[in-house]
Amino acid sequence: MKNIVYIGLGSNIGDKKGRLEQARGMIAGIGDVKIIQTSSLYLTSPWGNPDQEDFINQVIKVSTGLPAGDLLDRLQQIEIKMGRQRNVKWGPRTIDLDILLYGDEVIDSPELRVPHPHMRERLFVLIPLREINADLVFPDDGVKLREVLVSVLDREENRGIRKI
Ligand code: AMP
Repeated sequence: MKNIVYIGLGSNIGDKKGRLEQARGMIAGIGDVKIIQTSSLYLTSPWGNPDQEDFINQVIKVSTGLPAGDLLDRLQQIEIKMGRQRNVKWGPRTIDLDILLYGDEVIDSPELRVPHPHMRERLFVLIPLREINADLVFPDDGVKLREVLVSVLDREENRGIRKI
């Protein structure tokens, strides 16, 4: 069985656009993963720790038969291959790959939480996700992406994120 999965990509070191392209290529190269759709790229202010370069973020939609835990392992291997170091929380990163949504599954294990626990606060996830699927509904509580976006935009306006 194939599942529809949304993956968030981000980079804020060096050739960020090139890194996202490389990461998409490597994701497409995972056996049993097919990229179906990609959002535009967005330039966004850093989250959590402001003393670093802006990020480029993107969301992609894939179809896969891999179980969620196996997909996470493969994404983490790509992060490591691309030179990601995990020494600063919310610090600069060559590449960050997050599983945002995995079909309608709700997962709460120490290694993997889906829907991604921070995605509802992050415009750089919500806005590209809306580009791909404006009618999306969160599987855990049935709330609509549109409603989440309205409340986050209400709170934050659209500061610090623009399509490139
Ligand atoms: P970060 O440094 O923000 O990329 O966080 C990576 C850690 O988050 C890893 O240890 C993962 O096991 C964990 N994690 C939990 N849920 C997710 C998710 N939905 N996607 C990616 N990583 C996750």
